Amino acid sequence: MPADAPITQDVLTIPRKLPEGGKQNLVGLTRAQMRDVLIEAGTKEKQAKMRVGQIWQWIYQWGVRDFDSMTNLAKDYRAMLAEQFVIEIPEVVSKQVSEDGTRKYLVRIAGGHEVEVVYIPEEGRGTLCISSQVGCTLTCTFCHTGTQKLVRNLTAGEIIGQVMMARDDLDEWPTPGAPKDETRLLSNIVLMGMGEPLYNFDNVRDAMKIAMDPEGIQLSRRRITLSTSGVVPEIARTAEEIGCLLAISFHATDDATRDKLVPINKRWNIEELLGALASYPKVSNSERITFEYVMLHGVNDTDEDAHRLIDHIKSHNIPAKINLIPFNEWPGAPYKRSSNNRIRAFANIIYQAGYASPIRKTRGEDIMAACGQLKSATERARKSRKQIEAEAGLNS
Ligand code: SAH
Ligand code: SF4
Repeated sequence: MPADAPITQDVLTIPRKLPEGGKQNLVGLTRAQMRDVLIEAGTKEKQAKMRVGQIWQWIYQWGVRDFDSMTNLAKDYRAMLAEQFVIEIPEVVSKQVSEDGTRKYLVRIAGGHEVEVVYIPEEGRGTLCISSQVGCTLTCTFCHTGTQKLVRNLTAGEIIGQVMMARDDLDEWPTPGAPKDETRLLSNIVLMGMGEPLYNFDNVRDAMKIAMDPEGIQLSRRRITLSTSGVVPEIARTAEEIGCLLAISFHATDDATRDKLVPINKRWNIEELLGALASYPKVSNSERITFEYVMLHGVNDTDEDAHRLIDHIKSHNIPAKINLIPFNEWPGAPYKRSSNNRIRAFANIIYQAGYASPIRKTRGEDIMAACGQLKSATERARKSRKQIEAEAGLNS
């Protein structure tokens, strides 16, 4: 799509589809929502809070998927749950493992759509890169996902379900009663897969609340990073309602270039974006903001760009680290990666100015799992919006 295509948040949000037999999925409900559905199903109001706590722990702390294993619940209560509810997560369609150990999963969600999830193992930790939408309504010109037209928001269950799926695959659910193992294969989450998380705010927030819940997945909010292209009004909400770390897809130092690379810049320009970023660390009580900067040969990689970038950050007093991302190519991409020497020179200017400037190591390139290379096979069998709506029963 051309860079000047309209910026749209026109996303088809498919309502939570009741699975076969009309059973409701418990995965992804907030505690309040779970309480409501349990009461509706016949749980006594006085007991509802305790039941939510018990079921919640089974699902998110122990990774249990069948009600019969929930041994601290009465047998007839378990039978009632099994009759009315399911515990379902996205289904793994395929898994590829890179030479460097990176795993790329293709998972299928309701309606037959597919999204990609990437697991990146590192020394002493491991990061899961999850998706928030099928495709993306934005059209950043260097991003493969941005060329995918089919878009829908993922539900909170589908978002947290990606984390649960990875824990299944890594075989990392603890056993009740066993000593707590502090080293985790899946220790960090980044919302850097497919989609713009701040265009699916409520579902992303609800899913991340589960990820951070002390009786849930139990990740600290400092181990969750949300990356946005710059949806300015939602940045303050992210600080207040999620409080995770923030990464910003900055990528250019003047509005004309950023308009082309990250077209949402036409809606909220660099100055407005910097204003929103400046208040983020205080409101969210977090540390530095990560500035992501994709290195594109001859487009945004001069010494002047590096100096302008520093001026922007300094003039707004933003605690920052600058993550330089060597451009990952994809078939038909209109850009080339800057040379290693250029990237190093750029990094050096930033470092000399007093900011950390790590160059992101490209992982999983052999399986097209690197940043910006994700684009699901859904695209190949692209359906019309009408067809999707018909399948979801929206036009009946
Ligand atoms: N939509 C969100 C999150 C997903 S993209 C966002 O744009 O921030 C995660 C990161 O990968 C972003 O910084 C994005 O700009 C970057 N990226 C996209 N395509 C890329 C490519 N081909 N090479 C390197 N980085 C890319
Ligand atoms: Fe969407 Fe992010 Fe890709 Fe831009 S970089 S098209 S916002 S996924």
